[in-house]
Amino acid sequence: MTPRNTRRTGAVAALAAAALTLTACGGTPAANSGNPAPAADGRLSVVASTNVWADVARAVGGDAVSVKAVVGATGDPHSYESTAADAATVRGAALVVFNGGHYDDFVPQIIKNETGKPVVEAMKVAGQDEHAKPETAEAGHEHANEHLWYDLDVVEDVAKAIAAKLGELKADAKDKFTANAQAFTARIDALEQKVDAIKAAHTGVKVTATEPIAHYLLDEAGLADVTPAQFSKAVEEENDPPAAAIAEIQKLVTERTARVLVYNPQTESPVTKQVKENAVKANVAVVELTETLPEGKDYTQWMGEQIDKLAAALKQ
Ligand SMILES: [Zn+2]
Repeated sequence: MTPRNTRRTGAVAALAAAALTLTACGGTPAANSGNPAPAADGRLSVVASTNVWADVARAVGGDAVSVKAVVGATGDPHSYESTAADAATVRGAALVVFNGGHYDDFVPQIIKNETGKPVVEAMKVAGQDEHAKPETAEAGHEHANEHLWYDLDVVEDVAKAIAAKLGELKADAKDKFTANAQAFTARIDALEQKVDAIKAAHTGVKVTATEPIAHYLLDEAGLADVTPAQFSKAVEEENDPPAAAIAEIQKLVTERTARVLVYNPQTESPVTKQVKENAVKANVAVVELTETLPEGKDYTQWMGEQIDKLAAALKQ
């Protein structure tokens, strides 16, 4: 069994556990005041914390759902502060999809008193309960990396979890949701082949990142992320990195120890800008990877393009 399959089995087990938990809570949507009936047009309303998870829900739900995202193409979900209107939107949804792992904490805050609210939380689907499994945390990180939409296996599992939840909420479209999820995961499988090709050609190549956005993708591609742990940790916590860690990452690019700099424009700071400038000067390829979906692209297009950019940078 390959590591990928092992991980998938774990995620499926977590999914089953999550389903059991829901049953145990006795979540009959109609019995809870916060859970609305389907809209007049018969479509289920799904609200996701970011446009990434919204797009996964759209791929699975098709025309049987209407999907809204709280955070769109611009802005940084890490530091997003929700409004009263967002809270009403989230509470009004038949299904809420969010990331978890403190990435989009505004969602669990909004629904904390809504017992039985149907939700899909990517972190739970991935079986990454940060408190239960501290051994999965990276060195220098107090918690598992939360950028789960860069983990293709997890995205597949989230799509399946959304299909299962939507099937419970709208039984007459259950088969359609399952079929949509299968079509979506087939497109993800094609992306996994691109990642496998990077791994075959560039295993062990050193890269660095201004923010650990693509941790799972770099890992799956066999690349060695040599970013100083203290640098990543500070950026993640929205603090200034210590001077020694800044000096270290600057050295990684100026001495070209790192072949690629992964740059997240949505968590840009004077420090990360300077690292990028030095990378450009030293001829280290800069690959911009984003937190959220750019306008006009769907998840698989966007992620496919990002993987292609990474592959092209490694060939430089
Ligand atoms: Zn991030």
